[in-house]
Amino acid sequence: MKYTQLDIAPTISSLFGFEIPDKDGREIKEIGAYCANKSIDQILLIVVDGIGAALYKKLDGALAQLQALSDDGLFFELHSLPPRITTPNIGTILTGYTPEHHLLYEVDDTFYTPVRSILEIASDNGIKSGIVIELLGAKAMLNRVDLAIGVENRHGIIDYDRRITDLALKAFSLEGIRLLMIHLRAIDNCAHHYAKAWDDFTFSARTIDENIKRICRGLCRPTLILVTSDHPIHVEKWAHLEDDNADVPLIASYVNVATAPNKR
Ligand SMILES: [Zn+2]
Repeated sequence: MKYTQLDIAPTISSLFGFEIPDKDGREIKEIGAYCANKSIDQILLIVVDGIGAALYKKLDGALAQLQALSDDGLFFELHSLPPRITTPNIGTILTGYTPEHHLLYEVDDTFYTPVRSILEIASDNGIKSGIVIELLGAKAMLNRVDLAIGVENRHGIIDYDRRITDLALKAFSLEGIRLLMIHLRAIDNCAHHYAKAWDDFTFSARTIDENIKRICRGLCRPTLILVTSDHPIHVEKWAHLEDDNADVPLIASYVNVATAPNKR
């Protein structure tokens, strides 16, 4: 059976050796096997907003770092769950529950929900966890995880993603975080706000790729990097780029400080 976005959280919990109660997803066994003979100190989950599996392949040359990670690791096409909107789909990724189960449809829903994400369960199990995300999302997670950093989009999305990246590296190196989720938004923002031609997507993708490269270079400890997306492009004008495919990519790659693809 094909893997879905529900399977990411159960895979992370299984790698850390704890359970998600009543989960709807299952462990991606291939990732468990891939990690079995590696010493993994920390896991970084990167959600790249709004990139489906079809668009990922088309962006080929613009995502060279991501593809190097994929070549060194594993690549999956995951079925994305409706409604394919940022908040509920990130909710699905972080909980391993269907939207009907987690009921996180708007950012407001994330403030007082009794549903606990993989980050909170990890923290309860003694694994320091954190999130670097937009300001309101981070406020919702405050006091629920070990570190919740909010970033405001004050100087454009490229600057925003760059600051998220900087803070991700600090979270690992200064705060001893062992499970971190970050959200990079340049591609989705481009589709919504300024895309006029294909070149705008390749430009946005390159900025994301550059941030992922900086993360790989800056990591101080052996890390499993998981890169996925919340939904394929959902802006009608550009939906054709996804070829009627509702899958999102998932890359799982081990970055050892000495052997990171970018350090060769
Ligand atoms: Zn989104």
